Amino acid sequence: MRRSIETIDLDHGSWLRLDCGHPVNESASAVNDDEPADCALCDRAQLPVGLIAVGPVRRRHIGDPRPCTVMTPTAWTVLTVESGAVRVGGRGHSDRPLAAHARAVLVAGALYQLTAVPDAVIELQRLEFPRAPVASTDVGDRTGE
Ligand SMILES: [Zn+2]
Repeated sequence: MRRSIETIDLDHGSWLRLDCGHPVNESASAVNDDEPADCALCDRAQLPVGLIAVGPVRRRHIGDPRPCTVMTPTAWTVLTVESGAVRVGGRGHSDRPLAAHARAVLVAGALYQLTAVPDAVIELQRLEFPRAPVASTDVGDRTGE
């Protein structure tokens, strides 16, 4: 999957990563920072390290009258089948039906087709990188506006 390279600024320097959150590998770092790189980890739906759950779990029914739905999550998402069964067609998945309590990782920005067989309730949990270290609110080092 094509990803852009971004620079992450930390207090003690900066480093490069792909905008999906995966590290830049050797082949990617050899190319220009301005050009997209292929991410094999996204192709396998492998969660980047360091993500945390953000926001409420969204529950969704798939089935009669619409047994099929198409979605492109804007962030990494964990899909949990609460009841019924659902096929996950898309990046990193084999399209086999997932039964209740099964989980699937949905890659940020990838297209998925979810098909209930014949009915399912799913839960979607969004994952993101923490925006700042937990202790930073106590430090009082904010600069002026
Ligand atoms: Zn990736």
